[in-house]
Amino acid sequence: MIAVQTGLYIGAASDLADCCELARAGITHILTVDSEEPKLQGSFQTKFIYSLDDMCADLLSSLDSCVQFISEALEAPSSAVLVHCHAGRSRSAAVVTAFLMRSNKLTLTDAYSKLQQIKSDVKINDEFLNQLALYESMDCEVDMTSPVYKQYRLQKITDKYPELQSVPKEVFAADPMIALSHGSEVVHRCRKCRRTLFRGSSILSHDVGSGPAAFAHKKTVDAAARTPGLAIQTQCTSYFIEPVQWMEPALLGVLDGQLLCPKCSSKLGSFNWYGEQCSCGRWITPAFQIHKNRVDEIKHMNVPSLK
Ligand SMILES: [Zn+2]
Ligand SMILES: [Zn+2]
Repeated sequence: MIAVQTGLYIGAASDLADCCELARAGITHILTVDSEEPKLQGSFQTKFIYSLDDMCADLLSSLDSCVQFISEALEAPSSAVLVHCHAGRSRSAAVVTAFLMRSNKLTLTDAYSKLQQIKSDVKINDEFLNQLALYESMDCEVDMTSPVYKQYRLQKITDKYPELQSVPKEVFAADPMIALSHGSEVVHRCRKCRRTLFRGSSILSHDVGSGPAAFAHKKTVDAAARTPGLAIQTQCTSYFIEPVQWMEPALLGVLDGQLLCPKCSSKLGSFNWYGEQCSCGRWITPAFQIHKNRVDEIKHMNVPSLK
């Protein structure tokens, strides 16, 4: 194991067997990020995060609690913490990088290169690097209500349940017809029958047609640049939203299909677990797409009698 900074060590599962070394470093706290919880000799404050080192693993959702565990360990008098995974290269490195970003206010690039200078064999897998980039975009604090996080969670479910026998209940936003929002939150209603369909906070906003995901679109832009007068579509003509409870029957056991109004059955849009392309060129995966011209945006007035 190697000291990253005073009181913080990174290592492999094999380091746990070396009691002398643990004692010499004054290790009092052990954070394990692995598929198996270790059996430890001696008494330590421990935290175990189950995680494989693969593209499906969701480390992001645990980063805040890991960073907190490390911080508390470092604040305790005469304490030291070891963060380890199996090989000490990817999972533990991702957690330590997150800690350096948060506590030392470093960018992902700076934190990761700092760690690589200290421990040259670390190699965080690409998926964890993506998750750390999301962590950075949320100012190193996971905001579960942010569109970025919601989209990430949906993506994780798509990876995990390719056959979609069941969609976890917690991914569905509450039906705004049943659980009416308070205050003056914006809601969206079916243009035809005025049934309230989703809240403004369910919209998962995206950058308009940027990034590698919009490569096909970029070609259109280049073509347009060479061909004056060729109009290009950069407006988003749909809302991409998180799934709402009333969609559940339509999603069961299928990968894609139409989204119909639960009251009047008029076509509102479509969904596809493998993603759909927005009119602006951006791919959204998975996609729950509502055409803007099928709904009206209403600033909800808090009048209980209208329930
Ligand atoms: Zn768009
Ligand atoms: Zn309707």
